[in-house]
Amino acid sequence: MAKTRRPLKPEEIQAFKEEILKKKEEFWNQIKQDLMERVGKEYQDLINTVKDEEELAQIDLNEETVLGVLETRKKELEAMSQALWRIDHGEFGKCLQCGQWICLERLQVRPWAVFCLECKEEMERLEKV
Ligand SMILES: [Zn+2]
Repeated sequence: MAKTRRPLKPEEIQAFKEEILKKKEEFWNQIKQDLMERVGKEYQDLINTVKDEEELAQIDLNEETVLGVLETRKKELEAMSQALWRIDHGEFGKCLQCGQWICLERLQVRPWAVFCLECKEEMERLEKV
């Protein structure tokens, strides 16, 4: 895989932002779908209107049901929210660990990545030991 490390252009950042927003919405739709399969009809309309975790928390659902559905996707959702935050604060595209630019090819696959490939691999290596 080629590695292009350089500061991102504003239009590239904008494109990544749109992609993240789109993915996040897809994610939420999946979560809502899962939830609806597990709850009674009386909650389905409510769930349909939910846009984020905060709104979800306001619906009086069985906590275990919600956590069960959210658990597997929580990490990705958090990463997406974090990426959006970083875009708004001008910190998008830099590795949180080493501060270098995350290579463009990696961001294209996973725009919400917060670590460069080298740091990610290093972390995974350490975790396995
Ligand atoms: Zn790094």
